[in-house]
Amino acid sequence: KNLIEIKGVRHAYKTRTGPLPVLDGLDISVPEGEFCAVVGPSGCGKSTLTRLVAGLMKPDEGEVWLDGKKVSSPRKTVGMAFQNPVLLEWRTILDNVILPLEIVAPSMPRRDRVVRAEELLEMVGLSGFEGKRPSELSGGMRQRASLCRAIVHKPSVLIMDEPFGALDNFTREDLWQTMRDLRAKEPFTAVLITHDLRESVFLGDQVVVLSGRPARTQYILDVDLPQ
Ligand code: ADP
Ligand code: ADP
Repeated sequence: KNLIEIKGVRHAYKTRTGPLPVLDGLDISVPEGEFCAVVGPSGCGKSTLTRLVAGLMKPDEGEVWLDGKKVSSPRKTVGMAFQNPVLLEWRTILDNVILPLEIVAPSMPRRDRVVRAEELLEMVGLSGFEGKRPSELSGGMRQRASLCRAIVHKPSVLIMDEPFGALDNFTREDLWQTMRDLRAKEPFTAVLITHDLRESVFLGDQVVVLSGRPARTQYILDVDLPQ
């Protein structure tokens, strides 16, 4: 079953100097539980694609389906992670991770939220840091915490826009492995936007190459590597 279906999507931004075509024929299908990595040069429309999947905007043409429903407005069932994680400094790491549960599951007892957040923090190697403030952690650790926050409420889809782009090589590769470990314990469907080909092949079950001006889906590669 395909959890994400993007069919014939075309989009142009309206600008002062006229329409700016960005996407011109996007076709992507992501089966449930799979990781779709999208690579392409800067400016090719990758962030636009994430906004479409998240329901933050509508394409001029074509359709985006999530879990059997046409996307027309923002969904609680979509988790997002970005290059610069926005963690709230007035909250502890634990309370940052819990935040989506407060919004999506207001009646869930705090105890259960804490158990869930602690379980995820342990999976990404942040046990013992629950009570710290974001500024007390390294960039890599903050990104780990923000990944936990993005999936704490079990969104049906996780969208990541260059999540490791701001990290040094060593930390980044460490996080790739963390991401794989996390997936082994907690399966989720994800779209990973990156301009790092190695990252796309390491993490993606499929790699979609977007290029051209305006961009189209150019290639879809199935990655079948030993885990
Ligand atoms: P990427 O994430 O691949 O770098 P984006 O989706 O951010 O690409 O942008 C694709 C193109 O659309 C770029 O030329 C960008 O300047 C333009 N663009 C993005 N958002 C807007 C907007 N809200 N209004 C007008 N142009 C935009
Ligand atoms: P609680 O832990 O009781 O749910 P929060 O952690 O949500 O409270 O908020 C702690 C404090 O931060 C409160 O005074 C609240 O008003 C403030 N606050 C919450 N969200 C924001 C925000 N987006 N911008 C500024 N202040 C905020």
